[in-house]
Amino acid sequence: MDTLRRNNLIDGEWLAGEDYLPNMNPSDTKDIEGHYAEATFPQVHLVISAARKAFPAWSRSPLMERFTLLDKIADKISERQDDLARQLAREEGKILSEARAEVMRAAQIFKFFAGECLRIRGEVVDSVRPGVDVEITREAIGVCVAITPWNFPIAIPAWKVAPALAYGNCVILKPSELAPGCAWSLARIIQDCGAPAGVFNLVMGDGASVGAKLIASDGVDAVSFTGSQTTGSMVRRICAESGKRVQLEMGGKNPLVVIDDADLDKAVSVALNGAFFSTGQRCTASSRLIVTDGIHDAFVAALTKKMVGLTVGNALDDKSEIGPVVDDRQFRKNMEALERARRDGAIVVGGEPVEIENGNLYMRPALVLGTRPDMVINQEEIFGPIASILRVRDYEEALAVANDVPFGLSAGLCTTSLAMARDFKRRIKAGMVMINLPTAGVDFHVPFGGVKESSYGPREQGSYAKDFYTVMKTTYIG
Ligand code: NAD
Repeated sequence: MDTLRRNNLIDGEWLAGEDYLPNMNPSDTKDIEGHYAEATFPQVHLVISAARKAFPAWSRSPLMERFTLLDKIADKISERQDDLARQLAREEGKILSEARAEVMRAAQIFKFFAGECLRIRGEVVDSVRPGVDVEITREAIGVCVAITPWNFPIAIPAWKVAPALAYGNCVILKPSELAPGCAWSLARIIQDCGAPAGVFNLVMGDGASVGAKLIASDGVDAVSFTGSQTTGSMVRRICAESGKRVQLEMGGKNPLVVIDDADLDKAVSVALNGAFFSTGQRCTASSRLIVTDGIHDAFVAALTKKMVGLTVGNALDDKSEIGPVVDDRQFRKNMEALERARRDGAIVVGGEPVEIENGNLYMRPALVLGTRPDMVINQEEIFGPIASILRVRDYEEALAVANDVPFGLSAGLCTTSLAMARDFKRRIKAGMVMINLPTAGVDFHVPFGGVKESSYGPREQGSYAKDFYTVMKTTYIG
């Protein structure tokens, strides 16, 4: 039991809160990882004015200063891979091997954006008028608020904070109240590496109070949000009313299409990983497996066999392949989704709660068979280790079913035909397309994001992130 109280980082100081929220370990609900200060409303005002005050100097800081800071942060995260991974596994329930990979991902993102500091450049173009040159430069926007979910508690903060700092912005990070521990550790690292006061700040607490207060403030210039579609729509409305730049990464109902010519073993391992790893708690999880007639029975039999063999257990145990669900609310949501699918006429394989000492958030992964495209299970994001099977006649029907949802984040196809892969790439409505790869699992130097209700605004990641974190200035020189 950790009774440590951890504070908010505001203007270079660690400020105590009036209330502290416990950070529960979903693998062992009696274990509290720490208590995290909920920022008070005066602290929210304070953090915004601190970031505003720090902005002029940071936005004009020498590129080498930003490079050195981000590079050091990357090294420090890598050095601490093991303890950060344990903290991540403990607060979120991600198994250790996945937690280690996520921590390394965060380090790589900071490394990438360290380099990006040195690649920021403008452009000189000829004017349509003789004797005039036109210079296009990019400048930082100002104070950016980063609002992050619990399911990637260090990688998602990294992919917002690193570009924001690299391009000369000041940042206020508001992590999920369900898993603030890794964000707090990241804040410690950023401060220890020498970030000037006010350039990077951390405020923790509930979304509806602390988060809402931040995004409504006139002192904030831009909001980068990752989380559910319901919250995201609200964030978008509030930002539009106050004229802020906003970027939203939200939910998915990602299809993995398996057609007759697919390599069966490959398709099964792609589906197993995409649907169930990280306990299915990934926005890019393959929650709909759309399978053509000819391969359906063999695919379902082989996938079921692999799925029932998965070891469910404590995230900190190296033998576990599937960790717990993040909290009681999500656990009930998963059970209700399965119950609803049964009522709608589907057959559920797996999905039973698993009893483990001090752990009441474990369930077996589930496959839902005999579903129709219009069932709730195929239209709404669940966010658990649950995948439905949709049996279709052929590729054309598969494509129509795949596109028939309000989301469009990631989509996959298992095939041995290059022609089919190219056709799928052209016709699928998704921001990311995977051929013979799980719908989850992306690189960090290329754009991340979706279409329809999955995303809004410029893409995240890679140098494309500058489209969100900078504004262009056009100068005419006569
Ligand atoms: P959530 O929407 O409940 O919370 C996300 C963040 O928003 C949290 O920090 C929360 O405190 C904050 N928040 C809540 N209400 C707010 C308000 N009124 N104003 C401002 N901030 C507020 O989401 P979650 O449960 O933490 O995360 C799971 C969701 O995130 C899933 O839908 C998943 O698909 C999505 N997600 C998307 C991506 C992506 O890149 N597309 C990645 C990871 C997770």
